[in-house]
Amino acid sequence: MFYTEGEPIVDEKAPDGPIETRWDRRRFGAKLVNPANKRKLTVIVVGTGLAGGSAAATLGELGYNVKSFCYQDSPRRAHSIAAQGGINAAKNYRNDGDSIYRLFYDTVKGGDFRARESNVYRLAQISVEIIDQCVAQGVPFAREYGGLLDTRSFGGAQVSRTFYARGQTGQQLLLGAYQALSRQIAAGRVEMHPRTEMLDLVVVDGRARGIVVRDLVTGEVSTHFADAVVLATGGYGNAFYLSTNAKGCNTTAIWRAHRRGALMANPCYTQIHPTCIPVSGEHQSKLTLMSESLRNDGRVWVPKQGGDSRAANDIPEDERDYYLERIYPSFGNLVPRDIASRAAKHVCDEGRGVGPGGLGVYLDFADAIKRLGRSAVEAKYGNLFEMYQRITGEDPYQVPMRIYPAVHYTMGGLWVDYDLRSTIPGLFVIGEANFSDHGANRLGASALMQGLADGYFVLPNTIGDYLAAGPFEPVTDEHPDVEAAVSQVVDRITALLLVNGDRTVDSFHRELGHIMWEHCGMERTEEGLRKALELIPALREEFWRRVKVPGTGEGLNQSLEKAGRVADFFELAELMCVDALHRTESCGGHFRAESQTPDGEARRDDENFDYVAAWEFAGQGQPPVLHREQLTFDHVEPTQRSYK
Ligand SMILES: Cc1cc2nc3c(=O)[nH]c(=O)nc-3n(C[C@H](O)[C@H](O)[C@H](O)COP(=O)(O)OP(=O)(O)OC[C@H]3O[C@@H](n4cnc5c(N)ncnc54)[C@H](O)[C@@H]3O)c2cc1C
Repeated sequence: MFYTEGEPIVDEKAPDGPIETRWDRRRFGAKLVNPANKRKLTVIVVGTGLAGGSAAATLGELGYNVKSFCYQDSPRRAHSIAAQGGINAAKNYRNDGDSIYRLFYDTVKGGDFRARESNVYRLAQISVEIIDQCVAQGVPFAREYGGLLDTRSFGGAQVSRTFYARGQTGQQLLLGAYQALSRQIAAGRVEMHPRTEMLDLVVVDGRARGIVVRDLVTGEVSTHFADAVVLATGGYGNAFYLSTNAKGCNTTAIWRAHRRGALMANPCYTQIHPTCIPVSGEHQSKLTLMSESLRNDGRVWVPKQGGDSRAANDIPEDERDYYLERIYPSFGNLVPRDIASRAAKHVCDEGRGVGPGGLGVYLDFADAIKRLGRSAVEAKYGNLFEMYQRITGEDPYQVPMRIYPAVHYTMGGLWVDYDLRSTIPGLFVIGEANFSDHGANRLGASALMQGLADGYFVLPNTIGDYLAAGPFEPVTDEHPDVEAAVSQVVDRITALLLVNGDRTVDSFHRELGHIMWEHCGMERTEEGLRKALELIPALREEFWRRVKVPGTGEGLNQSLEKAGRVADFFELAELMCVDALHRTESCGGHFRAESQTPDGEARRDDENFDYVAAWEFAGQGQPPVLHREQLTFDHVEPTQRSYK
């Protein structure tokens, strides 16, 4: 048995009553902290992306003492800066039928009915406030000729609700959060610790009270204490080695918290994005996203005939298969990511893929250029086209882009209740790091929405309910639990350096990634997952025997940083496979080949799997314990998802 059964878990903070007023009522029911008391309370926020940056700035503005941490040299280099396409909001500026209810409906359906209704409704409500907040900060969203904010469409929606700043939405939003954070740093309310990596969570008397960190420049290991700890440390897609995530993205913060008692929810829910530049060889360490926004105007196709080796522009119109438009006429090229990715895989499996190895499909802008003119296309997507040309050497204004699915986002993460609190009192988790509101498949442009909703609006309102009981008893380095946490961190660093083997960290990471992509990627089978569960522990054992980490721990050592992160990826990867193996249904991004409809779509099993799988760490070498959180659907009836 790969796991054992535990007690069901219940979200005790989940409000009931009319869905439209649940958030209002929770805010009203939550205890408040008066302004004078806020000054006596300290909150640690790990992460300065959109979630952490917005949270730290807002908590500082509210009057708390905030300590903010990131491993980059500047908070504004967090991975959120990479987000290209946009952020959803139910503003209905287009008057095209959008509403809070429709965004809620689309998101629950898009997530294949594996998210909580209350959370998603709140997200849709807050979406409109986010745009106002960011505009007030000066975020330069794209505007129409008349000066109104412009929108575009993203997958899984038939309305145009995605606000954007060219192909750099994440960067512009992050600059907004960063300037708010900088204001608080200057005001002395936020103490900023860049180039500092959290390596463990300090839990004292059952509460999260601090973190153990390593200064990445000096190598010094130290502690920081607070009344509450917030993790905003992003996603773990790099468990697959190749992904669209920044190279530094990792799982260490949440994995260490998991080992200290925080449950990990739905770890196998991984999003494979359909429009990425195809892999070009073994030398690659990173994949590049071509934003989903491109599917507003780009048309996806492959040759009708397998093995057609003609250049794209030589294949006549009637010999092309615009397969998304053919199979899904109502959503066409804007079907959700899980559907578009699987469709690309199917046509490539049929031998109709294009480019080296046949692992690619075309994304063609010829029609859009004819219809709108080159300059209009350039204005919307210019930086993405330039990026594509620099990487592939091909000019997408002249020949269609070649794209293929790649790992992009992780819907799984630490389990949190409606207040965003984990199962460890005092530990809150926001942004991509929590298991979030996206169910089994995140719709495009919803991650920025969720990260900013969590950071600007949800957490600042809910954390007070916990902190109202503080300030808690001061914690010092002499506390036995603190001493134990620090010595475990130091021992682990020493152990990594002492192996002194003959294989690089990257070679292990690449091999782990191969196993994960092969067996826990776009399509999963019982046989493949069982195989992965043999291969991963064997590779992990080899890692601890043969890894070579050059240099020392007393200074900047990027191999050492990577080694610690890869060691955690090994443990997480195993849990991802256990989760994927136990969930014998298909849902969203989790496609079990054994559970599909006759036409190859994901077949859910609501009777047996309409729950959140929350996993408990039971000790090194012990099978994890499964706690189920039952999901209920009172507003959106779970149906077989159809985008046809
Ligand atoms: C290429 C790309 C394009 C995308 N485009 C879009 C889009 O258009 N729209 C959309 O909605 N979503 C998009 N996404 C998804 C979205 O960007 C992310 O989900 C989101 O930005 C995550 O934000 P975050 O604040 O949770 O984490 P991140 O931005 O990843 O920030 C994590 C922070 O945690 C810190 N950190 C992590 N671990 C530690 C540690 N152990 N110690 C100290 N600090 C630590 C890091 O330093 C960093 O500051 C895109 C993703 C990618 C990869």
